[in-house]
Amino acid sequence: MNLTRGGDLIYDAILTLAYPQVCVICGRSVEQRRFGVACEPCWKETRIFTDEERICLKCGTPDQERCGRCEELAFTAARAVGMYEGALRESVLLLKRQPYLPRHVEGLLTKLVRCEPLKRSTRVIPVPLHPKRLKTRGFNQASIIGQTVSKALKLPLDEVSLVRVSTTEKYRAGMDKKGRRDTVAGAFRAVNPRLVAGEDILLVDDVFTTGATISACGEALMAAGARNVFVLTIGRA
Ligand SMILES: [Zn+2]
Ligand SMILES: [Zn+2]
Repeated sequence: MNLTRGGDLIYDAILTLAYPQVCVICGRSVEQRRFGVACEPCWKETRIFTDEERICLKCGTPDQERCGRCEELAFTAARAVGMYEGALRESVLLLKRQPYLPRHVEGLLTKLVRCEPLKRSTRVIPVPLHPKRLKTRGFNQASIIGQTVSKALKLPLDEVSLVRVSTTEKYRAGMDKKGRRDTVAGAFRAVNPRLVAGEDILLVDDVFTTGATISACGEALMAAGARNVFVLTIGRA
């Protein structure tokens, strides 16, 4: 880590401690620390999924009970806190820069994992970064989410059983769905089948976009004998 990057981290840390601060979306002041980088009105405008939401029961796509596009994805069910927009998006972007989740986001994640079907999970596994990437960033943002939910559900946080064996995680622009799937297919490997076999895995990541990365992880976990792979993300793109 060079000095400039270190300086940025310290500056960010001060920002998250000093309230009120300016909302990164609208410029009003954020009065409460628990809201992180967005103000309460901006949080109110962000779509958070409710218990009564009509969603695809498998992949969690809003406004449709069966989206018809997720049959091939290798997981049992995926749920997100809300749409990847507004305050949720800003919270995820912050999480990519520093290992920090505002209390409000922690509360939303905790509530979601205590509902069906995620509450049936027995083991929490964050989507891993490639070791090279982990070294430059200093932390895995999915692990920060994993820590929160493993604490809430009193489940083991497993950061060793699933590894990323290839760095291909940036998709080339214009690549179609199949192209994206092929890029990440085989990118993950379950290295401790003994720890995964028969378990109901809660796989966690920051954003669910096409589901290709998550499905590649799910495939590796299922191949190692996982009984179910439930998925939790903050945002749904
Ligand atoms: Zn705002
Ligand atoms: Zn679906």
